[in-house]
Amino acid sequence: MRRRSRSLRAARSLGADARVRALLDWFPDHRRPLPWRRRRTPYRVWVSEVMLQQTRVAQAVPYFERFLRRFPSLRVLAAASEEQVLKVWEGAGYYARARNLHRAARQLVREQGGRIPRRSAELRKLPGVGPYIAAAVASLAYGEPILALDSNGRRVLARWTLERSDPSSARFSRRLERWAVRHVPPERLGEFNEALMELGETLCRPTGPQCAVCPAASACRARQELPDPGAIPSRRRRGPKPLVVGAVTAIERRGRWLVLRRPSAGLLGGLWEFPGGKLEPGESPEAAGRRELREETGLTVGVLEPVATVRHEYSHFRVALHLFRSRSPRGRLRVRGRRHRWVGMRELRRLPLPRATLKMIPFLRPARDPGRVSRG
Ligand code: SF4
Repeated sequence: MRRRSRSLRAARSLGADARVRALLDWFPDHRRPLPWRRRRTPYRVWVSEVMLQQTRVAQAVPYFERFLRRFPSLRVLAAASEEQVLKVWEGAGYYARARNLHRAARQLVREQGGRIPRRSAELRKLPGVGPYIAAAVASLAYGEPILALDSNGRRVLARWTLERSDPSSARFSRRLERWAVRHVPPERLGEFNEALMELGETLCRPTGPQCAVCPAASACRARQELPDPGAIPSRRRRGPKPLVVGAVTAIERRGRWLVLRRPSAGLLGGLWEFPGGKLEPGESPEAAGRRELREETGLTVGVLEPVATVRHEYSHFRVALHLFRSRSPRGRLRVRGRRHRWVGMRELRRLPLPRATLKMIPFLRPARDPGRVSRG
């Protein structure tokens, strides 16, 4: 305890912005060579910030590199179809981010000759660009003196200042923003934004912060005053992710499979999938597979072969999907409000697909012995 009090007094004597100075001194020697830092252009900064929303750096890097290889400039992105963009984004999740980025690129090419606005206020007018992305792009790419606090930055500042208000409240963010604006020299805000994110990503992790090697440790209030600095900000206990049980029917006709495109807005928007949906209470997977197929396509099936149960975990829920296949659809195909296609396996792999659908493909090799089958 005595050690802590002494070091806290020493830190206070350094002045209110000791943590800021320590962070800015630390950053140049510790910044990771991330791909979007190698050649910093507004477009690359923007793509990286969109990808980093709800995604950790390590996960975002391969997606970023793949995206930039395929769409190296705003104009190339704008010229692509939404389907091409979603295919390249496949697996990165939160597909609305990709659709909005694509819409914004088209808007900029159409209305501003492909120029990315320099000011955060202008950036915010683009589809999918909220206050954080606008501030991050304007400060990192153009040096606008504006604060950009993401969840990493908020966590670090909350620990520095021992901010105990509810992290989901507006008050929490407002107080941290006020603190930062008071303590960071405006001309260094861009650098501060990036350094703070880096500290939050590398050392000041949500649990088990590595205070022993942290540059701000001597003045960090959580480190000095709490037995566990990771207890700030308070975390709401999350229960297990809800499980959605569904049934999916893969219909095959002369080597081609029927797939439907999900509506553009909403979960997994714009991706392609086999007909299917959730089980209703008391319904068997097979009955659900037949019902969903009838409702979505107007088709009924005779033989329905159970193939596999595919499990996947999305960010907020888990799915267990009973996969059936049939080669004997009956009736007239009627798909309302959605696009549909009959595609061969090779073409299917070229479409943007949800992860769970991708997992189904290996089970859909050409049928030989139908095994366990049921008749409708
Ligand atoms: S001292 Fe610990 S809690 Fe404080 S900023 Fe550094 S890593 Fe985070």
